[in-house]
Amino acid sequence: MTTQTHNYQISGNRQVEIQPARHFIQGAYCDGVQGKWFETINPTNGEVITQVAEGFEEDIHRAVCAAHQAFHEGPWRRMSAKERSRIMVNIAEGLEKNGEELAYLETLDTGLPIAQARGQAARAADNFRFFAKKAEEMTGETYPVDESFLNYTVRRPVGVAGLITPWNTPLMLSTWKIAPCLATGNTAVLKPAEWSPLTATKLAQIIHDAGIPEGVFNVVHGFGETAGAALVAHPLVNLISFTGETTTGKEIMRNGSSTLKRFSMELGGKSPVVVFADADLERALDAVVFGLYSLNGERCTAGSRLLIERSIKDEFEERLKERVARIRLGDPFDPKTEVGPLIHRNHYQRVQEYIRVGLNEGATLAVGGFSPDDQVGNFVRPTLFTNVRNDMRIAQEEIFGPVLVSIPFDSEEEAVHLANDVAYGLAAYVWTNNLTKAHRVAGQIESGMVWINSQNVRDLRTPFGGSKNSGIGREGGHYSFEFYTELKTIHVSMSHHPIPKFGKVE
Ligand code: NAD
Repeated sequence: MTTQTHNYQISGNRQVEIQPARHFIQGAYCDGVQGKWFETINPTNGEVITQVAEGFEEDIHRAVCAAHQAFHEGPWRRMSAKERSRIMVNIAEGLEKNGEELAYLETLDTGLPIAQARGQAARAADNFRFFAKKAEEMTGETYPVDESFLNYTVRRPVGVAGLITPWNTPLMLSTWKIAPCLATGNTAVLKPAEWSPLTATKLAQIIHDAGIPEGVFNVVHGFGETAGAALVAHPLVNLISFTGETTTGKEIMRNGSSTLKRFSMELGGKSPVVVFADADLERALDAVVFGLYSLNGERCTAGSRLLIERSIKDEFEERLKERVARIRLGDPFDPKTEVGPLIHRNHYQRVQEYIRVGLNEGATLAVGGFSPDDQVGNFVRPTLFTNVRNDMRIAQEEIFGPVLVSIPFDSEEEAVHLANDVAYGLAAYVWTNNLTKAHRVAGQIESGMVWINSQNVRDLRTPFGGSKNSGIGREGGHYSFEFYTELKTIHVSMSHHPIPKFGKVE
């Protein structure tokens, strides 16, 4: 294995030195037990960025034992929420201080346009600030029964958390788990996605430098079937928070069942955007374009199925075509770029295959389409299919790239039927200026979240999560604490209440 470092220039003439991505266990970087490495590839040019330590069962075991010891013997869970919160704020500050470098690493590793990567780095810091404060505010409940009893509840950390994350916006998504997990006194082992290891590696150092005790936060790199599966199966891991594909989520639940873990599942989506003729069509158009093509279309809540009322279909699709054709696809380091290359060659080929499927199914390729086979980077042209039927694969399966499908409807009833006629239920978007219709439709759509006349903006206090094949559980606000804490009820007798005297009969 070559462990040379790579130097990259970033804005302001600063340099980022990229070293091999190593595991982080018990407060220090380390190589894998088997000494194996894999490569992380730059999606813009196909070049190797650096080597990544490949973790296996032995590495997971080391990390889990470190987390287990830190949980049971270390100071972390015994600290007051205020003390933990102070360290969490230090982490937020560390993320802010290193924001430009983190954004740079994310763009390099994933192809996310730099302007959007900066936003994601800022959100990662917000995640720590938000949960630091929220954990300090955590309370229990009291149940005064009568004068003879007092019952109350307290929340306690669960133990060792296994956090398994995907490659899309990896820094933001992993901190969305790490922050509530640590804020409530748990310890953690993060298994980042194999295609995007760089920001997780840097994050470990930032968390360590902020003053987290050794062993509280650990990172093991590696593949899902080996490192990920070992984390799920480990008997000392008490909970698994997973974000990724639905099929992977199902397998994880099967593999974790014998050790009876608690699971949070944030899975895939195929979210409808319902645009009625009476909507503010200019704003709806902005939201449809941004909601699908931002983050390279690699977004779980992407509005990937446009349901358009037939009376405005032709006009709306015409305007949509013009806008999609003008989206700036290119170098993700150019601040003007709107869509960059897809994360990995395999994913690029998968998205290209869906374009082929759409054509074979008889949909009309209105904009975009195939990229040349010999192209070096994973650039997929922003693509729009019209004349799509809801039973086509491109309307039912998660493509997870810059490919939008447009399906017409004739009535409110049909719009709701089409919106729900899919296996997923993560997000939905409704556009209409009719107030009662907006609420009625939002209420009937089967999804964890609905936005009315809005793109995907959310307050971190609100619950985030999906129904149907899109997941189990909710994260965000105090809902994250439902998952990351154990609720304990304490029953106190306040009087000499009668106790049956078994075995004391005269
Ligand atoms: P993926 O399921 O392939 O991988 C996710 C993670 O799971 C990776 O770290 C991978 O190594 C690991 N993994 C794979 N097999 C495993 C196994 N058998 N045991 C344990 N771990 C295993 O998903 P991906 O391709 O990285 O991410 C894209 C998917 O994530 C999309 O479906 C997207 O919708 C979904 N996603 C959902 C949300 C949400 O909040 N609902 C957010 C982002 C992404």
